[in-house]
Amino acid sequence: MATRTGEPRDFIREIIIEDLRSGRYERVHTRFPPEPNGYLHIGHAKSVLLNYWIAKEFGGKFNLRFDNTNPEKESAEYVEAIKRDVRWLGADWEDREFYASDYFEQLYEWAEYLIKQGKAYVDDLSPEEVSEYRGKAIIKGDEVLTPPGKESPYRNRSVEENLDLFRRMRAGEFPEGSKTLRAKIDMSHPNLNMRDPVMYRIIYASHHRTGSKWCLYPTYDWAHGQSDAIEGITHSICTREFEVHRPLYEWFLGNLPVPHKPRQIEFARLNLTYTVMSKRLLLRLVQEGHVKGWDDPRLPTLAGMRRRGYTPEAIQEFIRRVGVSKTESIVEYELLEHCVRDDLNKRAPRRMAVLEPLRVVITNYPDGQVEWFEALNNPEDPSAGTRKVPFSKVIYIEREDFMEEPPPEFFRLAPGREVRLRYAYFIRCDEVIKDKDGKIVELRCTYDPATRGGEAPDGRKVKATLHWVSAAHAIEAEVRLYDRLFTKPDPLDVPEGHDWLENLNPNSLVVLQGCKLEPSLEGAEPGERFQFERKGYFCVDPDSRPGRLVFNRTATLRDTWQKIKRKQGK
Ligand code: ATP
Ligand code: MG
Repeated sequence: MATRTGEPRDFIREIIIEDLRSGRYERVHTRFPPEPNGYLHIGHAKSVLLNYWIAKEFGGKFNLRFDNTNPEKESAEYVEAIKRDVRWLGADWEDREFYASDYFEQLYEWAEYLIKQGKAYVDDLSPEEVSEYRGKAIIKGDEVLTPPGKESPYRNRSVEENLDLFRRMRAGEFPEGSKTLRAKIDMSHPNLNMRDPVMYRIIYASHHRTGSKWCLYPTYDWAHGQSDAIEGITHSICTREFEVHRPLYEWFLGNLPVPHKPRQIEFARLNLTYTVMSKRLLLRLVQEGHVKGWDDPRLPTLAGMRRRGYTPEAIQEFIRRVGVSKTESIVEYELLEHCVRDDLNKRAPRRMAVLEPLRVVITNYPDGQVEWFEALNNPEDPSAGTRKVPFSKVIYIEREDFMEEPPPEFFRLAPGREVRLRYAYFIRCDEVIKDKDGKIVELRCTYDPATRGGEAPDGRKVKATLHWVSAAHAIEAEVRLYDRLFTKPDPLDVPEGHDWLENLNPNSLVVLQGCKLEPSLEGAEPGERFQFERKGYFCVDPDSRPGRLVFNRTATLRDTWQKIKRKQGK
């Protein structure tokens, strides 16, 4: 059986095809199960899209389920942010928005069921004691040893006593942390997850959906598989760290009267160079003010990437290219940038913007004259149309496009040299004006009226074409240039006693004021994306106010991915 959309087959899709062939399942139902304790990042995008695409390819269903079992870290703000991001990515859960907290009552009943079967007990050990009694794995050379753990003295309470205590736990008779409910499995199991895992803990905290109704909260291990079973999930796709939890996932499902048994499949997490991905680490960056918020354009969060100007299509393409596998790898940040460039190259209209302006007076151009030149919105796509850009006696060019004493490899403007102004004329630099500190403040140039449109009738050539903006028509803007958030490909790789924050890039944000834009950009709306000719891709930031536009640089034009690919022989 082939998948509907012809997506490449990977080991997950192979398993699903086999499950349908063998009759283990007759349909496909997946879910994305975020914990609402932070914003989604690009790693989550992989999970969202994988689950959504698979459901679609097999004509199945896709659920959004909030795994909200930890009241202390979760909030409605995060729920809303996650919904916004999943929708933006293009994954549609239709009306299937679920919450693990909606299953608290059912989970509670199943816990009583296990107690009655003699398969769960109330334990009075403290969290520290629970972990001490469980024991730990010891690594000896190539071997991993797991000496047996120790049974809790409360492990053999009677069913009646357990039921009574558990009901009183629910009723709020015991202090926080004083008791837990544990599954009674095997304290010498080689897999530590099977050593009587905790199912419930007592927490007196208000939950963002259930308020103060509960003081018993299920652990992830106890809630997850049963939530999948309740929703009829066939393939519970998750990341590799849950592989060692799978025997437990199956133990619970095998010992409960669940309506349905899902299959868990694990894949390798997405990792990216020059950034950190875990919500816990991102939260620290946000809380300590190293970035401006969860949607800071330097973060790998979907909200940050959206604000920076990334398109959902670029992220989808990136995820497609990364593929799915079982082995961990770190993907180059440059591939992500390559995908956004590729997409924006097709869709972003071209504009002229001078980020670091240098004033140029064209001495032989008539005072007060204005010409409007027709400029292509996208040279690669004629259907994108044209716009008019005004030209006049005083213009701005980019400071870096002029050098008073140019080295041999510098072909742009220099004293005595002629260059082309895009869409307009050739100009020649005659004079350099400096202030008292020697800083260049203005160039005096002459233009050749015969080169109108950018070609010389006598066939003479110039080596550079510059972008420019007419001073009298320019609108001013702030432009925020972003660079990598960290200076090292793996920011978490720090010597003993050092903090990964030491790897933050102090120049990850450079703010330029007084940038000059062509007037057609007037009124651009937050979220609109453009290519500023020769400078890169830019997106209007929500901080923009009428008359004061703010732009974020999404990416420069230089594609370093191609270079890396060549180097790696890909
Ligand atoms: P984090 O470590 O960033 O907090 P998490 O796994 O704790 O991530 P959840 O909200 O529990 O975050 O994750 C929801 C789903 O997203 C899970 O199925 C998880 O496996 C998946 N996921 C999380 N990070 C990645 C990643 N880097 N690559 C692929 N999938 C991921
Ligand atoms: Mg988590």
